[in-house]
Amino acid sequence: DPNLKQADPLVYELLEKEMRRQWKGLELIASENFTSKAVLEALGSAFTNKYSEGQPGARYYGGNEYIDELELLCQQRALEAFGLDPSEWGVNVQPYSGSPANFAVFTALLQPHDRIMGLDLPSGGHLTHGFYTTKKRVSASSIYFESLPYRVSPVTGYIDYENLEELARLFRPKLIIAGGSAYPREWDYGRFRKICDENDAYLMVDMAHISGLVAAKQVLSPFSYADVVTTTTHKSLRGPRAGMIFYRRQCLAQVRRGEDLESLINSAVFPALQGGPHNHQIAALAVQLAQVNTPEFREYAKQIILNAKALAKYLSSLGYHLATGGTENHLILWDLRPQRFTGSKAEKLFEKCSITLNKNSVHGDHSALSPGGVRIGTPALTSRGFKERDFEQVGEFLHRGLEIGLNIQTKTGKKLQDFVSGLDIYYRPELVKLQTE
Ligand code: PLP
Repeated sequence: DPNLKQADPLVYELLEKEMRRQWKGLELIASENFTSKAVLEALGSAFTNKYSEGQPGARYYGGNEYIDELELLCQQRALEAFGLDPSEWGVNVQPYSGSPANFAVFTALLQPHDRIMGLDLPSGGHLTHGFYTTKKRVSASSIYFESLPYRVSPVTGYIDYENLEELARLFRPKLIIAGGSAYPREWDYGRFRKICDENDAYLMVDMAHISGLVAAKQVLSPFSYADVVTTTTHKSLRGPRAGMIFYRRQCLAQVRRGEDLESLINSAVFPALQGGPHNHQIAALAVQLAQVNTPEFREYAKQIILNAKALAKYLSSLGYHLATGGTENHLILWDLRPQRFTGSKAEKLFEKCSITLNKNSVHGDHSALSPGGVRIGTPALTSRGFKERDFEQVGEFLHRGLEIGLNIQTKTGKKLQDFVSGLDIYYRPELVKLQTE
């Protein structure tokens, strides 16, 4: 068999370019990471060839002797990684990714048009937590269910728990989702549980962003409070792209108190939503979950947070404003409104100098269409060995990059399009100088 380079030089070349891009730049996207060689090897393996619809020991295809062993091993490692007792918690490792994992939970626990509450997207929530706009039900979670978002305080940037409590009393949701994609602070899971209990609702925690930090015990764990916990596996957990659903054997929510959620969750994943599990992902996830359970990974997770705090401190020392004033996890939200700059311009600007981050709403933004800041995460560069001092240097690059961006803005005016053209005209001499210093 020819190898990739021989069989498909075009794809090979794109892969080479992407690998070069990943290594050359500063990867600050909070949801990305660099997996290990072992994980990549398992992902690119013969496990991808096998169909295995069903559960270990009860498949709809023959030949699953080793796949059964693999999936059970992955489940066992998943429970161990989060310190869970198998008599209290079970796990489904078949979701293809985070979004299908979340939709599987809704399918398992809700009827169409049941009510859900999640953190609003501009407040740092995820699309799959019920997002809609005034014009459109954007996410399937708002198309098939009735969603009322809760928000962060426009003043502090922290979740407004009083308002959530009040809204829940009026809306009577059947499920509340804690967790998000751009929230730099701890989650008060106890408070969520209390609000769920008052309203006879399930508590689902989507810990996608912070699951590596949870496993390493560097942030609070949701497991004492939640009925169901979902996660992606490719963010701070540093595994392959995939998803997991942890479910309680004794559901806490009144609706199904004491009931084992296993069959509901498993049948929602298959056959309700998915077909054959992606066994190459499950293999790679098993590999990473073993890594997660080591002192090295705990050190790594600790460093992620130290780095985020160091970057937050550095930017604050230069007078910049961060949402909530700082961070307790792997990300910061840099509010650029005081500089009269937008998140969209910052994203384009930094891309030009090989710094990858993304525009993000910050609390108090008037429109989600023009986010006032950027989200910056530390997991990927921490995987490359960056420590606090390195992140101060990253902060310095961000500061100097922004100053150049502000200069270009004075030349090009307010419009994003003009700014982007301006970047092409002005960035080279100035940003190349910055890069070579
Ligand atoms: N949940 C949260 C909190 C996320 O941040 C994300 C992705 O960014 C997802 C779910 C969805 O994951 P995926 O992109 O793997 O579908």
